[in-house]
Amino acid sequence: MFKESFMLEINNIKKYYGPFLALNNICLKLKPNELVVLLGPNGAGKSTLFSIITGLASADSGECFINGNNVASQSIGALKSLGVVFQQPTIDLELSVKENLLFHARLHGLRVSSLKKIIENELHENGLEKKINNKVRTLSGGERRKVELIRSLLHKPKMLLMDEPTVGLDPGSRAELLKKILYLKNSKNLSVLWTTHLVDEAEKADKIIILNKGKIIAIGSSKEILGFAKENNLEAAFLKLVKEK
Ligand code: ADP
Ligand code: MG
Repeated sequence: MFKESFMLEINNIKKYYGPFLALNNICLKLKPNELVVLLGPNGAGKSTLFSIITGLASADSGECFINGNNVASQSIGALKSLGVVFQQPTIDLELSVKENLLFHARLHGLRVSSLKKIIENELHENGLEKKINNKVRTLSGGERRKVELIRSLLHKPKMLLMDEPTVGLDPGSRAELLKKILYLKNSKNLSVLWTTHLVDEAEKADKIIILNKGKIIAIGSSKEILGFAKENNLEAAFLKLVKEK
């Protein structure tokens, strides 16, 4: 029988912090080239789930596979397929844009000589070509996020994880980042899992997963979520579902 392959497969994940159950039996599948938004209020468990997907924390039960590799027991294979932008910036403010990018490339064992042109092109596409030798400290929040996004894709991952990437950005930078993510999905065949607590960011996703208090309370397209909540806009549907549970 044909077995469908998933970029990400999460089966029955539970995570406790002491007696507190932060993730309650999470199951989630992401297909190649799918854009999924994990939508949940603050404290829902989004970052906890990301720390398990990236292998930074271990689950108390359940399994997580990236491109068929178990994150816990085959971490090198799993992480090779993954690009990550964390909720908190993880970029060195005292290094230049170029130094940050090249350091990351070296960490991944990439040949730096072959990447110089790619980095220049990417910075150009993002309007950052003049800032290549500037310290990251001198960049705006939106520019720093763009550098983090470029960095996360240098090793050509098949899947991109972004944890609340638009938090703290002004509306223009936020719109630009959203556009860029859609472009990446469509042009580079990436799977994207992206968390947010902002409902309008979820509208263009192939699939929305609503997480509340550690539990998935709805999964579907924007249209399906509206039908499920019997509402005609996503904001109202989200608020209703989160309140009901
Ligand atoms: P989100 O990213 O959706 O805002 P988090 O995953 O950061 O949510 O947190 C989920 C819940 O787990 C929250 O109630 C938070 O207070 C709690 N939590 C997160 N990290 C820890 C930790 N290291 N120790 C104890 N509780 C934690
Ligand atoms: Mg978070």
